Amino acid sequence: ECGADAILAGAARSYPNRVALRDGDTTLTFAELHDRALRVAGSLRIRGIEPGDAVALHMPNSLWYVVAYYGALCSGAAVAPINPAQPAAELRRQLDDCAAKVVFTHPSCAATALAAQMESECERTLVVIPATAAGPAGSEATTTGLVPLAELLDAEPLTNYRVDPDLVAHLQLTGGTTGRSKAVRVLHRNLVANVVQTTSWRTGHAATLDDGAITLTPIAGAQTPHMLVPGASVSIAVAPLFHGLGLVSHNFATLMGGTAILSGRFDPDTFLDDVDRHRVTYLAGSPTMYYAILRARTLREHDLTSVRYIGSGAAPLDTTAIRTLREVFPRAMVTEGYGLSEATMAVTMHAASPAVDTPLGSVGVPIFDTEIEIRDDDGSTVLPVGRAGQIWARGPQITDGYQGEPELTARQFIGGWLHTGDMGRIDDYGHLFIVGRTKDLIIYKGYNVYPQPLEELVCTHPAVAQAAVVGAPSETAGEIPVAFVVLRPGVRSSAEITDSIIGHVAAEVAPYQRVRAVHVLDALPATATGKIRKADLRESLGA
Ligand code: ATP
Repeated sequence: ECGADAILAGAARSYPNRVALRDGDTTLTFAELHDRALRVAGSLRIRGIEPGDAVALHMPNSLWYVVAYYGALCSGAAVAPINPAQPAAELRRQLDDCAAKVVFTHPSCAATALAAQMESECERTLVVIPATAAGPAGSEATTTGLVPLAELLDAEPLTNYRVDPDLVAHLQLTGGTTGRSKAVRVLHRNLVANVVQTTSWRTGHAATLDDGAITLTPIAGAQTPHMLVPGASVSIAVAPLFHGLGLVSHNFATLMGGTAILSGRFDPDTFLDDVDRHRVTYLAGSPTMYYAILRARTLREHDLTSVRYIGSGAAPLDTTAIRTLREVFPRAMVTEGYGLSEATMAVTMHAASPAVDTPLGSVGVPIFDTEIEIRDDDGSTVLPVGRAGQIWARGPQITDGYQGEPELTARQFIGGWLHTGDMGRIDDYGHLFIVGRTKDLIIYKGYNVYPQPLEELVCTHPAVAQAAVVGAPSETAGEIPVAFVVLRPGVRSSAEITDSIIGHVAAEVAPYQRVRAVHVLDALPATATGKIRKADLRESLGA
């Protein structure tokens, strides 16, 4: 039983001289990262931050982001990661909601943080990190109202800092795909559990954290050529660190002594160049990132054989993309996982072994210590194998619920189980298939139509690059399935194309599942993590 501070402490002890972070030409070893983090933690304490107080991170990914993050975490503060692209009014609401006492910000978004602060009645300190990783400490903008990070790094490192596992580690804002985002209370024990679970799963080693040291014991029979090697892995952190996928994955990299390459804005060509140059061994990200990589100009110009493991999550990865990724990264295993902020991050994953044949389109099986059940709509009955229904999950990564929302928490967190709000089915071998979110279910003349399998089918049409299927209101049927598509480059929109897409689907599905109309868009409206905003699409149909 320990707090998530033990993840970095353990890495600093087990892999002190290994490079933890690389940002451009600047690097920090695990020992250096730990030292910097403890200085930030020490300074936060001097500034009156007590365990349990909230500290917000309002910045794009960078080496200093990770320093500030671990500093806040080690001080026992609840970290509230916030999207830096937020307008000032929304930022103010989020900072006030979580009662943040300190905000770390970056020169590129500091003006928004200052504007939000002007409107707020709460007192808080705004700390600004250097504009670049190399930015020598002290080179931060010295705008009035902003404390440079260098001042915090001058403090003595915090000692005696074991964090209670029952404190909140992250106040994780959900993506807001289905409405206003909510802050999930991810406790230190949840974070440690999910990081240990994912590490064990992907390295084939049982991971334990004890007295600030990490012990990884090989699991008999679990070793495969695709397993990540502790102390030797290299990843690129492209998923935004303000999202659970990015932040929890980062802790996973730390726990196994992996080097994380940080880059600013995601650019597919730079990304491929980094993969090649730094011999990156694994990639984690959302489907939008992989789609962009597959469209990159320099895709075929690089040696991508160092990559052994590719993980995708946050939204469905279409099966055509999975096949192409396998081709482009010839030595990598392409895997998909399913998770949500309410479960820290990961719930199911593909086994990291090509010997275990995960069917295309499945998000894998529950990871260690995790159970899932498919239940009927009111949650009282577990449905038989093969039937689609509500996904419920149980395990040590299921969080404490929503901050300040006891009623909502009571509705979704019941008896140790989380009602995920997603729908899926499980096959005979325990593989989970997501069929869509409950809120996105389409009901056609009383029949349930699941959008995700239809989207996959639409994407197998040669003219289609991306698709989303939603229900359009209909007087006769209640709702009818309608597809929004983005066409492949070079394909012109025409009535023939849309008719052919409708025909392509009709040839494969029961009549009630047919897509009745196809709308062509230049891009699908998406959230920061690449989830399609179906509510916006429905609204455009007058729903
Ligand atoms: P909000 O709850 O505010 O609407 P959100 O659902 O985007 O936002 P997150 O916790 O960021 O909040 O995302 C979790 C959701 O992402 C899951 O509930 C699920 O719908 C979707 N998801 C995650 N992984 C996958 C996957 N592999 N395939 C399909 N959907 C996925």
